[in-house]
Amino acid sequence: MYKINADLCKKCRICEKNCPIGAINVTFDEGGKKAIAVDITDMCVECNVCRRVCPFGAIETGERTEGTVQCGSCSIQCKIPVGSTGGCKRYSNEGGKLVRNRALVVEGLPQTYIDEKIVKPVITAVGAGTAYPCIRPAPHIVCENRDGVDVVTTVTEAPLSYSGVMVKLDTNTYIGEEGDTVYAEGKPVGLVQTEEYGSKMVYVGGANRLTGDGGFATARTVCALANGEEVELTVKTLDKHTEKMKNIKIICQQGKAPIINGVQEKTMRIGCGSATIGLMASVMKECVDECIVIDHHVTGLFTEHLAGKEVGMTYSGVVPNATKSTVGRYFGGHGDGIGGTVLKTPRDAIKSVDMSLAWEGMRILVTNTTGEVGALFKVLANGDVEEIPMDEKATRVINTINENCQGSTCSVLYTGGTGGSARGGVCKCPKAITEAVHDGRAHLTIGGAEPFVYPGGGINFMVDTSKVVAKAFTWVPTPATVAPVEYTMTLEEYEKMGGHMDRIKKASDFPEYQK
Ligand code: SF4
Ligand code: SF4
Repeated sequence: MYKINADLCKKCRICEKNCPIGAINVTFDEGGKKAIAVDITDMCVECNVCRRVCPFGAIETGERTEGTVQCGSCSIQCKIPVGSTGGCKRYSNEGGKLVRNRALVVEGLPQTYIDEKIVKPVITAVGAGTAYPCIRPAPHIVCENRDGVDVVTTVTEAPLSYSGVMVKLDTNTYIGEEGDTVYAEGKPVGLVQTEEYGSKMVYVGGANRLTGDGGFATARTVCALANGEEVELTVKTLDKHTEKMKNIKIICQQGKAPIINGVQEKTMRIGCGSATIGLMASVMKECVDECIVIDHHVTGLFTEHLAGKEVGMTYSGVVPNATKSTVGRYFGGHGDGIGGTVLKTPRDAIKSVDMSLAWEGMRILVTNTTGEVGALFKVLANGDVEEIPMDEKATRVINTINENCQGSTCSVLYTGGTGGSARGGVCKCPKAITEAVHDGRAHLTIGGAEPFVYPGGGINFMVDTSKVVAKAFTWVPTPATVAPVEYTMTLEEYEKMGGHMDRIKKASDFPEYQK
């Protein structure tokens, strides 16, 4: 357990606020307001949070109590005394035995499963036209009999002011910082979002962009991306070296690898640097003495990493050029270097080598999370390193990483909120169709594709545009983008919600349906 160095402690209580298990005890003066002493109780599991947040370095390591068990379920490796729980509160030490303190749950919550008869729309809304103003019934309300049940689909091509596309770019390459503005045709059309797994995310559109200065460019760009056309986007970002703004050009198209500043991406990373080591530890052990996997999220150090330990490695003494997070895991700066970091060459990844642990001739492989980078170094007697040609074994590591990477691509997810005409045309009471969609009594599709419907109020959805009928999206110069919206339900349900019963047509009346 840790202890407080009372000489250094300023009683700021930052550690108390951050301790995940409440193991820090504060004593107050008689008035009960001023902290006069801070102590760490014997519940402490050495999760290190307090040491990371204490601005005065007032927390030190102390004696470990008897019966303490070290958890290995994440890289924190809490040392949990009897009767205490780990930093995540998931594992407890019960009488010297570590247990998951929640019983295994077999049943999930009850879910709504859509009646398969209403999954597929009778017709899509593509080519249907729009009911506007919202008071008018949908352009087509179509019925067919499915296994003895009459099923109705109402369709409209709905102008949606609340709409845009989330573009997922499978790349490690730096595209600017979160929140940076994205331009198309010289106009602001979106922003860089939080990255997801191995992908950079860009949002184009949204109500404020569509109604702002670049509204027409935004609408055109959203439609082009949703329809699978090639689009050039520009991110304006601050160059950290020159302190001046610079442009990053991204050419993206649904289903194709992104081209960033003229370079076409090839592969998506296997995972972060830590995950790469977790997945490849066995092959690394067979082939090299040490391996650094450079990554803008987490750079991994093989022999220090828990996966390295799992395959029998001991720490090599190599120190990577990044800030340590937990064992074998390091945070680096974001930039236009290798793997989206600030490191320009593989050599830059090695900060130093501790020769009390390392040995002359030790082979260090430096790679990245796609295996596209590979450089081998030999440790010299003075602790310096010298690059040597990649040999067969080191090449095997990078090839194995690379073979396990997927191809890089762009995915375009259209998001929309179905407001007036997209609901008004269905029935006289918009709340009725909204609730029916959320309850699973009516099924929403977008150009025939299954969307994800956001929980909560209204009908907001997100749909994978590669599953939507080709060229299904258009725009109107209000400006708003136009999406094909279909609601399918039983005729009985449609009548109950106050649908436009006098407007129902038979599917067989449509010449297109006959084909
Ligand atoms: S964060 Fe550091 S200085 Fe502040 S109360 Fe805790 S031990 Fe004392
Ligand atoms: S998983 Fe284990 S090591 Fe990680 S925080 Fe929880 S108790 Fe601590």
